[in-house]
Amino acid sequence: AHEGILRRQAQRESAARTYARSLPIVPVRARGLTIEGADGRRYLDCLSGAGTLALGHNHPVVLEAIRKVIDSGAPLHVLDLATPVKDAFTTELFATLPRQFADNARIQFCGPAGTDAVEAAFKLVRAATGRSGLLAFTGAYHGMTAGALAASGGAPDVQVTRLPFPQEYRCPFGVGGERGAEIAAHWTEHLLDDPKAGVPAPAGMIVEPVQGEGGVNPAPDDWLRRMREITVARGIPLIADEVQTGVGRTGAFWAVEHSGIVPDVMVLSKAIGGSLPLAVIVYRSELDLWQPGAHAGTFRGNQLAMAAGAATLKYVRENRLAERAATLGARMLARLQALRADHPSIGDVRGRGLMIGMELVDPEATVPAGRSASSTAPSADPILAAAVQQECLSRGLIVELGGRHSAVVRLLPPLTLTDEQATAVVDRLADALAAAER
Ligand code: PMP
Repeated sequence: AHEGILRRQAQRESAARTYARSLPIVPVRARGLTIEGADGRRYLDCLSGAGTLALGHNHPVVLEAIRKVIDSGAPLHVLDLATPVKDAFTTELFATLPRQFADNARIQFCGPAGTDAVEAAFKLVRAATGRSGLLAFTGAYHGMTAGALAASGGAPDVQVTRLPFPQEYRCPFGVGGERGAEIAAHWTEHLLDDPKAGVPAPAGMIVEPVQGEGGVNPAPDDWLRRMREITVARGIPLIADEVQTGVGRTGAFWAVEHSGIVPDVMVLSKAIGGSLPLAVIVYRSELDLWQPGAHAGTFRGNQLAMAAGAATLKYVRENRLAERAATLGARMLARLQALRADHPSIGDVRGRGLMIGMELVDPEATVPAGRSASSTAPSADPILAAAVQQECLSRGLIVELGGRHSAVVRLLPPLTLTDEQATAVVDRLADALAAAER
């Protein structure tokens, strides 16, 4: 069955298919960190549905919550009508959000994917400000629909001004270490304040507190606070895209808590649906200026996703899994950093909580490090990264690649990872790296 399914999928599915290309496995069973393939092989899944599975696969509390809705006879599809399930989800979500934010916030249920919520956030700030330009950062990823894609640098047809993210200066901070953040902030102010820069009147700025797909780039807390000051001073709503960083992943329940900034809009998806599709925006109520029906969509009331999501949020909160992610993540990060002594191909190891990236480089090849710098940095090595991914797979470990050059090996394990599993993950990755280097 295994080979046949893979063959048929390769024949029938779009040329654009992604994960299935680099991960030729056929999952048939899963629990926690482990996936079992149709060929009987088992894998430690550190991709976790691209960071979706806060509690791993098929967590009992998630399955129980889904079963409860089904067994109750509740309707599974009711558009955006009020239901007890939705009420419970909203209550649980608001209980987890930073107080200063949640006390004066509205929620808009969006289409089922993160990218839908990003579009809704853009629409909201445009309606609220009457302006249309958007500000996004280098290395950002916000989704695949037109606006979100433009903000990710992938579509030229929507007005987006690209601002430098601190780690634009790659591996690690090519320009004078921490000064990367300082330079990036100055450049942003210059672009916004100099009329000659020609930046269209911005309706909002969107930022990931830790860039995920962009290669695991944590935004320095000081820099994020600067972005908050800059946007407040100019009346620009700040949108925090916490699609990937939310629900404990970075060691705080929401990643904005690290810097203490209060955004105007939060974009939430992935883990909030407890492995089922769900996406929302939560925003300062003063922005709630759009007309009834201004944002609609058929699939904004997925009852199973709301039930699974509420159970996940509650479990993460009650079991302090954000703290657990901080401790465990720091330990894994330290072990990976220690590998650098024996592996000059590890250009950088960075991350926050259980969002970890290891950037692989060719130490013999160098590139200019950043726009204005005369210094150089080692060149990213996507070929080695792809080889590491395959060596991981053959050792029963699923990892994802990211970053501008796809040279960053990313780990996004569930927050329920045990100490032993964390050790096994790092051991397998270290073995895979040694094998790929040969
Ligand atoms: N924003 C961020 C930060 C993401 O990581 C992603 C998905 N990787 C998205 C938005 C888009 O979400 P989706 O794939 O569900 O459309």
